[in-house]
Amino acid sequence: MQKETFSLVIVVPCYNEEAVLNETTQRLLGIAGHLKADGVSTHILYVDDGSRDATWSMINQLSAAHAEVWGLKLAVNAGHQHALWAGLEAAVPHADAIVSIDADLQDDPDVILQMVAHYREGADLVFGVRDDRSSDSWFKRATAQGFYRMMQAMGTDLVYNHADYRLMSRRAVRALLAFPERNLFLRGMVKQLGFRQAVVTYARQKRQAGESKYPLSKMLAFAWDGITSFSVRPLRLFIGLGLVFILVSFVVIGWALVVHFSGHSLQGWTSLLISVWFVGGAILIALGVIGEYVGKIYSEVKRRPRYIEDCRCGMPGGATG
Ligand code: UDP
Ligand code: MG
Repeated sequence: MQKETFSLVIVVPCYNEEAVLNETTQRLLGIAGHLKADGVSTHILYVDDGSRDATWSMINQLSAAHAEVWGLKLAVNAGHQHALWAGLEAAVPHADAIVSIDADLQDDPDVILQMVAHYREGADLVFGVRDDRSSDSWFKRATAQGFYRMMQAMGTDLVYNHADYRLMSRRAVRALLAFPERNLFLRGMVKQLGFRQAVVTYARQKRQAGESKYPLSKMLAFAWDGITSFSVRPLRLFIGLGLVFILVSFVVIGWALVVHFSGHSLQGWTSLLISVWFVGGAILIALGVIGEYVGKIYSEVKRRPRYIEDCRCGMPGGATG
């Protein structure tokens, strides 16, 4: 099995990444060169997620200059997860294995060689795990750590400190693409595929150029999506909380009656007011949570396309650019 040849596609979602694209291409072509010597034919598929800068024209140039570079352009920004999905769908007919990696070189591309070694040994999924986050700001580190803890508490099975840097065999990608949901949270979905899994670790680097496309608001939205797409525990949490409130209200009722019959009913005002507000607040929160799930159901039943393809470049049978 050792030097068996196979084809690998590296899928890279890009949103306004003109600042880093050349460097990324150089690094990935370097990896492709190494792999070629090892019998692996490698292609790089850039998915332009509706960028508003020169990203797409750069991808076109790179694709014209290097046969290894392919491009896929989405008509409108669909978000990182959906762009990645688009890349997987486009790449799977041409690949025995697919690696997904961010455009900004924060995830050490050299690790791809180790991923391929695991794939050769029979792994269907190889997760890239950051074991050193010292290059992240303390804020990013704290929020990321909080995120994984929270996901764990909510019962979502994740690989700790694994983002979307992974290798998937073709059968793993096909199994993933059979998931019908629109609310994508790939790192949770991938974990549910089973198959033979392996882990490679690396130190996370600083972004090579450009700035993060995940401001705090997008990060929070993503974490919230992760929880509500994967766990019904928040719903149960509020049922439990509701029961506690009912118990408390029995105590309050007893106390209010005692106060009433002892002739000091005016005193009850404070506690009544507090409990009315408190319970009212709890109900509103619970309604909000339910609303969130209803919203998810709504977006699922609409069955809208996950992304809209505009054109491709460099790809076999798809040069519509
Ligand atoms: N990205 C994307 N669509 C978006 C936002 C981001 O395709 O709407 C891509 C982005 O170009 C990058 C990857 O997703 O390749 C991760 O984004 P980023 O590095 O900005 O996130 P961070 O590492 O700061 O969490
Ligand atoms: Mg990044």
